[in-house]
Amino acid sequence: MDVTVRDIDGIKRYLMNEGINPSYQRIKIFEYLANHRIHPTVDTIYNDLCREIPTLSKTTIYNTLNLFEQKEIITSLSIEKNELRYECDTRPHAHFKCTVCGTVYDIRHEFPLVTKSVIDGHKVTEQQLYLKGICKNCSRDS
Ligand SMILES: [Zn+2]
Ligand SMILES: [Zn+2]
Repeated sequence: MDVTVRDIDGIKRYLMNEGINPSYQRIKIFEYLANHRIHPTVDTIYNDLCREIPTLSKTTIYNTLNLFEQKEIITSLSIEKNELRYECDTRPHAHFKCTVCGTVYDIRHEFPLVTKSVIDGHKVTEQQLYLKGICKNCSRDS
């Protein structure tokens, strides 16, 4: 997506362009992803938005994220088996997860990702690269 789309009106137009009915909750969930580049889980989004939107449920968030993912305006990361995370930056990039603090960082400058859309006749629709280790903040503390 165009990462500069962060205001409510821009998001509303963006969702409509993608054929998504821009309900208030959908706009707020997308806005959250656009402004919180932390690869949040459903729980994180729920905990941060439920005070502002008391009618919001985890099911709504889950369904909304599924819809966004089907429309290919967000991607999900499954670095851990039981922890799905989401982001609205759909450009291919790698991820680094800190095993100490749990932060997931975007890695863009190292680019070991595949640039071809067809490999050996196979059509590539998704690629994920996950790195794990100790992040620079955590190594500094020790
Ligand atoms: Zn860390
Ligand atoms: Zn990312």
